[in-house]
Amino acid sequence: MHTFARWARQSGLALMLTLATAGTAAAVQPSIPTGPTGASSPDVALTVTEQDVAASNAKISQAFGALAQMWTEDFNALGASFTVPSLARYRGAVRTSCGVMPANNALYCPTRNAIYFDEVFVARQAKNAARELGTDGDMVAVGIIAHEVGHAVAAQLGEDSRVPYENEATADCLSGVFAQYAGKKGQLEKGDLEEAFFGMAAAGDPTPQPTGNPRYDARVIRMVSLMGHGTREQRMSNFKAGYDGGAGACLESFR
Ligand SMILES: [Zn+2]
Repeated sequence: MHTFARWARQSGLALMLTLATAGTAAAVQPSIPTGPTGASSPDVALTVTEQDVAASNAKISQAFGALAQMWTEDFNALGASFTVPSLARYRGAVRTSCGVMPANNALYCPTRNAIYFDEVFVARQAKNAARELGTDGDMVAVGIIAHEVGHAVAAQLGEDSRVPYENEATADCLSGVFAQYAGKKGQLEKGDLEEAFFGMAAAGDPTPQPTGNPRYDARVIRMVSLMGHGTREQRMSNFKAGYDGGAGACLESFR
């Protein structure tokens, strides 16, 4: 998410694209204007308890261990070695050795090989999915972390693109690879894939609404197509490519 958030801030489009930078940024910051898209977060009233956060963190650390194992094996098969990123949770906006982490986000810091995530944000996403889908929502957290580990995988293989959308597409694809792996190990339960899709879509970029200023509109559309995580449909399709096709569908190194 990091690249898109930075761009949104720099370009002054942060308000319009609030949902894009953090999925449901408005959830814990309901005072943020929703901007010209008129989008409002459906989960403003959702309460996240310490118990929810603990359950979400337990799921994440379990998934993180499995992710580390899977990518270590896959790198070894290439004759390479995967340096497992460190995993750090935070709440609200905090200053870290990798800069200021914004609230309601999860990101990979390549210079530190570290994944940071707002634990309340991730727990809220899981709870939101549980409410919408009528499932336990646990796969949402896994999908988010698998996406960030995907950034680490691509970075360590030197396969990062200068087009931010391509990096996000790759991370979503690699997240799908992990879902396939978990499925083969019998670790997926009913509703898990829908949950992962839900998480992806929640963090997808909204379709920009025209403002009536043609130059401005054209610029927004161009930037979103190049720099965001992609639309809901794009993200589902990227995730599915990895789920169906494995790592080779996401990165040259695995072909
Ligand atoms: Zn990302």
